[in-house]
Amino acid sequence: MASIFTKIINGEIPSYKIYEDEKTYAFLDINPEAKGHTLVVPKVEVDKIYDLEDDDWNALWASVKKVAKHMEEVTGRRVVMKVVGTDVPHAHVHLTPLSETWEYGKTLKLREDEFEEIRAKLAF
Ligand code: AMP
Repeated sequence: MASIFTKIINGEIPSYKIYEDEKTYAFLDINPEAKGHTLVVPKVEVDKIYDLEDDDWNALWASVKKVAKHMEEVTGRRVVMKVVGTDVPHAHVHLTPLSETWEYGKTLKLREDEFEEIRAKLAF
């Protein structure tokens, strides 16, 4: 069965898309640790990030850099990143613009219009 992220990439489940290219897809995390918390995901469905083939690995980290730099430029904030992978078995990297309220693992509840406003600011 396809992972929830594959369904997002294929448009079967909605997402707040920030960025997409041939090999990667980036969208807002639905349980954000701060406004702008984004997941960057390889389009190929591989569970553990260290099992990615080199070309997918390189494409993923190139997109992480691109998205983080863009996010820093737009928000004016330092962007922190983490790889966890305890929840969804499809490799992904978390990117979060630091805010005063940011706390590792603590999440915000945002309304749909708030997600949409953030998406509109960050998408490129
Ligand atoms: P982890 O596998 O521990 O790195 O965490 C997976 C992340 O995916 C969590 O932060 C979830 O909030 C996020 N997540 C799960 N389902 C969705 C979804 N449908 N849209 C956006 N983010 C999601």
